[in-house]
Amino acid sequence: MKKTRSLFLSTLILTGCQSQSVAFHEPSAEKSIVRSETTALASSLSNQRTLEILAEYKKQDPVEWGERVTGVKNRFITTNKEIALTFDACGGPHGSDVDEKLFTFLIDQQIPSTLFVNSRWIDENTGLFQELAAEPIFQIENHGTNHQPLSVNGRSAWGIMGTSSVNEVVQEITQNQDKITELTDKKPSLFRSGTAYYDDVSVNIANEIGVEVVNYTILGDAGATFSRDQVKDALIAASPGDIALLHANQPASETAEGLKLAVPILKKKGYSFVQLKNQNLQ
Ligand SMILES: [Zn+2]
Repeated sequence: MKKTRSLFLSTLILTGCQSQSVAFHEPSAEKSIVRSETTALASSLSNQRTLEILAEYKKQDPVEWGERVTGVKNRFITTNKEIALTFDACGGPHGSDVDEKLFTFLIDQQIPSTLFVNSRWIDENTGLFQELAAEPIFQIENHGTNHQPLSVNGRSAWGIMGTSSVNEVVQEITQNQDKITELTDKKPSLFRSGTAYYDDVSVNIANEIGVEVVNYTILGDAGATFSRDQVKDALIAASPGDIALLHANQPASETAEGLKLAVPILKKKGYSFVQLKNQNLQ
């Protein structure tokens, strides 16, 4: 309990600052993502390795596009009644808030969870991010640098422009990879793109960089738009090995309320909650 209070003391401060900074920072959030291949080599890879990836993949044309692309993992193999709750923190002008009700509930109930965190959300909530990363119940993974669909040729999803070259795919993964590693001393092993869209070439590039690409089997809150009953109904329909996708950055949503309804029902059914770490992803 002590830990929870200290977390939310800083959360309140950070959230207070954050609403202001979101308003003031909006224009700069859309910073240019166009970088030349020679100036933006990823530091989590050696320059040599980055150049090899650029050379190898820029000749390849993607044949698949979407959320269910070859190589994307959507569930994990288990013989137990286990499911994984994953929460995206997307960042950006309308996505850098903190769902305190949600984090309070997860910590109070000690529910192991996996957080996919975007670089922009980390920038707006750095202190809180480090506190969350220090909580054993939270596994921190990579939700991209600019929150873009992962494409080698600029395809978009849900009106969000995707990356448009092999180099941009590499940067979208590695810049946030480096940020998280620096702040937490732990290197993410999983990646989920902004919008959860990919082409097949980009998924292979992610694997080359050393991250598995993880989507979901349960659409837990539909971009934080579900009512609490819709969240509850989506979650309680879980089967062993399901991965639920929800959001931790929309405090006005009913995600936390739906989760609070679903967790006791799932526990009664014999389910437990696991992180994605060391799971056999499929
Ligand atoms: Zn997101």
